[in-house]
Amino acid sequence: MTAAGIDAGERYEMVVGLEVHVQLRTRTKLFCNCSTQFGEPPNRNTCPVCLALPGSLPVLNEAAVELATRAALALGARVNEESIFARKNYFYPDLPKGYQISQFDKPLAIDGQLVIGERGDGSAMRIGITRVHMEEDAGKSIHDRFAGVSAIDLNRAGVPLIEIVSEPDLRSSAEAGSYLRLLKQLLEYLDVSDLNMEEGSLRVDANISIRERGATKLGTKTEVKNMNSFSGVERALDAEFARQVEIVESGGSIEQQTLLWDADRGTVRPARAKEGSHDYRYFPDPDLPPLRLTKKWIDGHRDRLPELPDAKRRRFVDEHKLSGYDVDVLTASPRVADYFEAVAHAHGDSKTAANWVMGEFLAALKQSGLSLDRFPVRPRDLATLLDMVRSGAVSNTAAKRIFGIMTETGQLPAQIAEREGLAQVGDESQLAVWVDEVLAAQAAEWARYRAGEKKLLGVFVGAVMKKSGGRADPKKVNQLLAIRASG
Ligand SMILES: [Zn+2]
Repeated sequence: MTAAGIDAGERYEMVVGLEVHVQLRTRTKLFCNCSTQFGEPPNRNTCPVCLALPGSLPVLNEAAVELATRAALALGARVNEESIFARKNYFYPDLPKGYQISQFDKPLAIDGQLVIGERGDGSAMRIGITRVHMEEDAGKSIHDRFAGVSAIDLNRAGVPLIEIVSEPDLRSSAEAGSYLRLLKQLLEYLDVSDLNMEEGSLRVDANISIRERGATKLGTKTEVKNMNSFSGVERALDAEFARQVEIVESGGSIEQQTLLWDADRGTVRPARAKEGSHDYRYFPDPDLPPLRLTKKWIDGHRDRLPELPDAKRRRFVDEHKLSGYDVDVLTASPRVADYFEAVAHAHGDSKTAANWVMGEFLAALKQSGLSLDRFPVRPRDLATLLDMVRSGAVSNTAAKRIFGIMTETGQLPAQIAEREGLAQVGDESQLAVWVDEVLAAQAAEWARYRAGEKKLLGVFVGAVMKKSGGRADPKKVNQLLAIRASG
């Protein structure tokens, strides 16, 4: 951007609303019994209903309604006791019915919110959720598999989705990024989706417009699609913001259109003219009765929601007396949070448990490439290892080596300590031998230490620890050095 461009950029603000499609974690599709398994041979997971053969009738999957309701409730949305499935009519080769079953004027839920941080004055930065509705996915057109022809795979047709539509409350690409990361975290806590972006389980479209700072009227928006990572969304928004500013600054006007993000080039390009909603000719699907949920059923699901990220963060601060940074790391994933709490409860010292889980444990988990439920070290075994450090049975250094072996073998810490000769040595006659050897080898430093250069103490302790292979009890080494110094 030129200097003038930067000035222009600062005169305008970005106005963004996001539409997030999330595939629900059900075994079968939304209106038939076909599997939702990803990666099956093309068109394997199909039947007359999802192929839209004449005479076939959809039957709603109750599990999908439950997952959608949980997500809506966790977003603080009002779940409607009656919602309507509607036909969204359009032609596309991967849509054999000629319409998609979605929800339109009576969606599953409306009026939710997600808090994404605090504003400068300490107030919560709330992003409104306009609606959460259910719909079926379309199939997939494949253009790069066969030379000269396109192919259609309908395995995805009819897979259950929710669409979470935000208000245009986001004011920067960074806010959009925070919203998406926190939304994904919330959905992970709810366990309603596998949230795998590479497999299309989570897709984001962005509506973006610009206006002069201080203006209240919304500008003409464009819709940006085809972003397959959160950082891609942020980059696409910045690119589209700059494009719109340039158009307006040069006297042009923004055309309402759909744009595709090109991550390689870092630019957007037009897709097709944007249809208004009237073009879809929505009408209630005559094959599906209204979805009726009782207040009792909805309340029951609200009562059974798991502890959500905000509540868990607050509780970790109160109960475990951890810093904000520690809490953020430990609660990023609900499974890591559970693991930490199991270690902390079994061991009794939350801070030590937190340090180990954030340090050795997360590093080893990442390196293993395993999901947490397959990680070989169980929380109670890590707690036992921490107990051994506290009681002086092994040193902290030895414990790290033992943990490394535990992550490879799943063996118990005491077993490893014994086999590897890592039990801490507290026997004073052995410690005295090591201390005297070190002091003899570093006589000059020892003289300086005795003359008052107290910071050298760490050098001797470190040398004794090294000589002992990490097995010396550092507390006793310090005591022995103190005795030598005063002698
Ligand atoms: Zn089917």
